[in-house]
Amino acid sequence: MKILMYNTVPEEQPFVTAWMAKTGHEVVTLSEPLTVDNAGQAAGFDAVSTQQTTAMPAPVYQILAENGIKQIALRQVGYDVFDVPAAFSQKIRLSNVAAYSPRAIAEYTLTQLFNILRHNKQFERAMATGDYTWAAGGQAREIYQLTVAIIGVGRIGSVFAQMLHALGAKVLGVDPVYRAQNEVFIEYTTLDDALARANVISFHTPLNEETRNLADQAFFDKIQPGTILLNMARGEIVDMTALETSLNTGQLYGAAVDVTPNENAFMNQKQAVTDLPENIQRLTQLDNFYLSPHIAFYTNTAIKNMVEMALNDAVTLANGGYTDNEILR
Ligand code: NAD
Repeated sequence: MKILMYNTVPEEQPFVTAWMAKTGHEVVTLSEPLTVDNAGQAAGFDAVSTQQTTAMPAPVYQILAENGIKQIALRQVGYDVFDVPAAFSQKIRLSNVAAYSPRAIAEYTLTQLFNILRHNKQFERAMATGDYTWAAGGQAREIYQLTVAIIGVGRIGSVFAQMLHALGAKVLGVDPVYRAQNEVFIEYTTLDDALARANVISFHTPLNEETRNLADQAFFDKIQPGTILLNMARGEIVDMTALETSLNTGQLYGAAVDVTPNENAFMNQKQAVTDLPENIQRLTQLDNFYLSPHIAFYTNTAIKNMVEMALNDAVTLANGGYTDNEILR
């Protein structure tokens, strides 16, 4: 089978090569995401795969279908990049890699929480000027003293909750889906109750109509003054204007985001700092705001799993078979 793999990054290449040797299938890699302009390059291939944060609009599926492609295997969790109804109308089956390494994201979320708690950015900036005093950053709190609300207790949220519980934190969970096995380390509650009690709020939901702009100004008005906000899920969950206001007023003690609503304008690219979106330039000046370039997933385990699982699914779906990773609605 011949597979066209869009938006391939150099780190994926060794795993692609190993997968080809193991399976006997051929993979051709492109460095651009799948768009209307290059969907036609799938002509002559049996299957396609991509990983990207840019949306794939309706004409993409039509062009793929006209070229005999029956599926798209996404090498990532978040599949809001698909126009699912448009794909289904062209009889294109879709898959994602639902769990390549939930630990990778959970560990990074924990890393950023500790960075905020320990004032690492303040200390780093002060030391860069020769200021090695304790006062430069200030005292930290220890994690066992904190109540952490996890909004979205799925694959990643559950792992993060277990880690926090093991460290002695109190963990609240908000999720329309109740998982009894999580009761060992989570107290399930309502969103309003969680916002009223939490010292830390961490988002691990998909982006959908309920979660888009969930953290708006009304949300920030309900939290305790001095709360920490973490968003490693999807940028559009948090209203960045309300976030900035809340950081400036002290309603937020600190925030760390790995994703932003406007991330396609600058993430995974090199540019002059002055070319960054203005809100990002302002926010990154703050000592208590941590931005990272969508790297929470970025570990050796995750890259290997996302390549191998997506390519296996590409073959399975192109052959008319079934995989647990298929997106059914
Ligand atoms: P998942 O589907 O396993 O879990 C999501 C959970 O959110 C589910 O339990 C679901 O019931 C719950 N949920 C849905 N709507 C909700 C709402 N309105 N309120 C509360 N809970 C709600 O997904 P996952 O694999 O844990 O991924 C979570 C998020 O992390 C996704 O947005 C994904 O795109 C993102 N992600 C980010 C990175 C990164 O590198 N930053 C990497 C992987 C995944």
